[in-house]
Amino acid sequence: MRAYLDNAATTAVLPQAAEAALRAMTECYGNPSSLHPLGRQARELLQQSRGQVARAVGCAAECLIFTSGGTESINTALRAAARKNRHLGRHIVSTSVEHDAVLNTLKSLGQEGFEITLVAPGRDGSVSAEALCAALRPDTILLSVMAVNNETGAVLPAAQAAAALKRRSPAALVHVDGVQALCKQDLPLDNVDMASFSAHKIGGMKGCGALYIRRGLAITPLLFGGGQENGVRSGTEGMPQIAAFGAACEARMKTRAADAAHMRALRERLIAGARALGAHINSPENAAPHIVNLSMGRGRSEVYIRALGERGVCVSGGSACARGRASHVLLAQGLPKSNIDAALRVSLCPESTEEMIDCFLEALGQAARLF
Ligand code: PLP
Repeated sequence: MRAYLDNAATTAVLPQAAEAALRAMTECYGNPSSLHPLGRQARELLQQSRGQVARAVGCAAECLIFTSGGTESINTALRAAARKNRHLGRHIVSTSVEHDAVLNTLKSLGQEGFEITLVAPGRDGSVSAEALCAALRPDTILLSVMAVNNETGAVLPAAQAAAALKRRSPAALVHVDGVQALCKQDLPLDNVDMASFSAHKIGGMKGCGALYIRRGLAITPLLFGGGQENGVRSGTEGMPQIAAFGAACEARMKTRAADAAHMRALRERLIAGARALGAHINSPENAAPHIVNLSMGRGRSEVYIRALGERGVCVSGGSACARGRASHVLLAQGLPKSNIDAALRVSLCPESTEEMIDCFLEALGQAARLF
């Protein structure tokens, strides 16, 4: 493969993470709940990994539980918050650009009698703090906002909206989907009760995530069983994935500032090159550096993806979960149909290079001639 540029869908596992997983499978393979030496060793590895992820999140280790991924963390957080606060009201605020893990959980809560308000983005993909605050009501019991949008890289004003909600209704709960922000952006947790994270977007393994739960907040679990992870997430811990998550967080946090500068420079090169080919940029100006959404304004995403793939370039049309459906994010932005149909998401990681960007631009120019 010449240019893997689909890092918002998933990343390669970092060598440090793969080594940590291998060690968890072949040396520290005990069950962390077992009392014998191998169990103790696994428990120590579990706590060490929790510390590594907590440092990346910016919280105390005891506030973090491991889950099977961002989707499970989000489901746990939203369902628990709605259940906890339903005696206070029935109104939930979120945005129309959230990941399906949030939107579909909210949809199911809607079917159970909760009223959901989804705040739309502007045409450039950004969501204003004013619009989010205007949606809050005295009976709002939960606010869920993503930190960084997975299709456009838009940075959402989660902190401002959270502060506004807590000022008016201290008992209301705030959840942040931090999946695309972890190890990339600061995520202030001041007014945040719960935040969701995923390992496979930062060089960890698929099938592993974490949920931050503010100290003192007791929540109902999604899964009942042996009471692991503070009773919030029963089931024997997936130690290879957890160890890899910890190692990936530690590696990424060491070079975070330099990595962000590197990806910002690549983003500028990509945007300048794409504009020179006539592309429209569907991401806001001040988006996170690792995600750029663009359209040539003609043709279809799937045809571009196939043509680019034949030249060794991997990008996507939007969220990998959408599998070819028109992007709900770009629809919410109110972009013309021709831009939505031809949208491509290019997403970077610290290992992305200028050569990969140039390779993408060359292949894009050739693919656009098909239409
Ligand atoms: N939230 C966002 C913003 C994402 O980008 C993703 C993954 O694409 C998820 C949630 C779901 O995470 P996971 O794949 O770990 O279930």
